[in-house]
Amino acid sequence: MFRADLERYAAYLGREDAGDITVLARYEFHGTHAGWHTHAACGDEHAIVPGRTSTPQHFRIPAKDKRHRKAVFRVTDQNAAEIATRAFRLARGIGSFRM
Ligand SMILES: [Zn+2]
Repeated sequence: MFRADLERYAAYLGREDAGDITVLARYEFHGTHAGWHTHAACGDEHAIVPGRTSTPQHFRIPAKDKRHRKAVFRVTDQNAAEIATRAFRLARGIGSFRM
């Protein structure tokens, strides 16, 4: 999802588990925070609670107080899906992609 007027963007990389989704990572931009960042689940993937977008296994990369290489919001209807595809290094045509 994204809101150009608020400079907000969030893309989720998840795995379907028995009718629920386990969020492995989210790629985000918040107009009020510094730059693009990822919240990635680290450690045992089976310890991640399905159905939640944020768990104790998710860590912010880079950390809030660290330098962000990309700090400009340039999301449009035309490139929103491509940004997620690149962030998660997905090959086109693999899996499902929902906006
Ligand atoms: Zn965030």
